[in-house]
Amino acid sequence: MITRTLPARQVPPQPEPSNPGRARPWQRLQAAAITDPEVLIRRLGLDPALLPAARRAAELFRLRVPDGYLARMRPGDPNDPLLRQVLPLDAEYRDVPGFVEDPVGDGAAMVAPGLLHKYRGRVLLVTTGACAVHCRYCFRRHFPYGEANPARGEWQAALDYIAGDDSIHEVILSGGDPLSLSDERLSGLAGALGEIPHVRRLRVHSRQPVILPERVDEDLLAWLRPGRFQTVLVIHANHAREIHWPVREALARLARAGVSLLNQSVLLRGVNDDVDTLADLSETLSATGVMPYYLHQLDPVRGASHFQVDDDRALRLHHGLRARLPGYLVPRLVREIPGQDAKSPLSG
Ligand SMILES: *Cc1c(COP(=O)(O)O)cnc(C)c1O
Ligand code: SF4
Repeated sequence: MITRTLPARQVPPQPEPSNPGRARPWQRLQAAAITDPEVLIRRLGLDPALLPAARRAAELFRLRVPDGYLARMRPGDPNDPLLRQVLPLDAEYRDVPGFVEDPVGDGAAMVAPGLLHKYRGRVLLVTTGACAVHCRYCFRRHFPYGEANPARGEWQAALDYIAGDDSIHEVILSGGDPLSLSDERLSGLAGALGEIPHVRRLRVHSRQPVILPERVDEDLLAWLRPGRFQTVLVIHANHAREIHWPVREALARLARAGVSLLNQSVLLRGVNDDVDTLADLSETLSATGVMPYYLHQLDPVRGASHFQVDDDRALRLHHGLRARLPGYLVPRLVREIPGQDAKSPLSG
C-alpha cells in the first residue's frame, strides 16, 4: 500500500503460491486474477483498438485485476474510474521530467531489510511485494520486489531493531499488500511483535478489503482482532463505487471485531478529481464506519504522469470538500517530501 521504498526495475512477483488443496477461498480468487489485457478488454466489451497499447504498457508493469473488481466496472466505458486505475495505456511510456523510478527516495530510511524508520515512534515494514491488484499510479511500480520480499528469516533483523528501540510504539505492516500474505505468516509476525513490550499499536496498510473483500475471513480476524495491541487498518479506496455491498460487509466485520478503520486515497486525474466524487467517497466511507485519513498528491513515479492533478487544482478541490463536509470527513491533503518528519500538508 501507500508506503515508500527503493527504486529499480523488475517485474513484480505473483502473490504467494499457495498449496491448492489448502488454499483459502480468497487465495484462489487472488490467484485467478486477470493478467491478460485481451481478457480485460473482452470481458468489459471495450473497443479492441485499446489492446495494442494495453499490451505494450503491461510490459512496463503487469496487468492484474481480480474478477470481483472487474465486476464493479461499467461495461463498455473506457473512462470508468475503476478501469482507469488498472488499464495499461501508452501514456505510461511518456518521459516527463520529474517523474522518476523512486519518487520518494527512501533508501536513507531503511534500517533493516524491509524496515523503514522515518517518523518518530513508528516504523514501517515492507512485508511483501505482491498485491491483489496492480494500480497503474503505484509509486512502487518499479520497486525491486525480487530483492525486498523479506523471507521469514529476514524479518528477524527488523524484529531485533524494533526490540532495541523503545521509542517505537507502532509498527505498520505494508508492502505491496501485506494481506496478500497468508494468515499463518502474518499471525506469526504479529505474535513476534507482541513479544516486544513497547509496541502498543499494530497498523496494517492494505487495499485488499476493497479489492478482494473475501480476504476478510475468520482467519484474518483471529490475529487482527485487538488483544495484545490496539489494531488499526488503513484501507485504500479512491472512489465510492469501489465500496459495494460485499466491501461494506467486510468492513463491518472488521469494525465489529474492534479494528479501527481509516482510509487513504490518491488524488487521480480521471478517477476522483472532482468535488462530487471526493464528497461521495467520504460519505460512503462514513456510512461504512471508516474515517477518511489522507488524500495523497500523486508521487511522481515514472509512467504515471497522466494521473497528475496540479497543486493549485488539488487545493481548490480540497477547499471545495471542506466547504461541503463536516471537518471529520475531510481527508488531509498531503504529499510525501523526502527528509520531512511527517507527511506534508499541501498549502497554497
Ligand atoms: C507514511 C509513512 C508512515 C505513516 O505515517 P503516518 O503519518 O503516521 O500515517 C510511516 N512510515 C513511513 C516510512 C511512511 O512512509
Ligand atoms: S495495492 Fe495498488 S497502490 Fe497499493 S502497493 Fe499494490 S499496486 Fe501499489
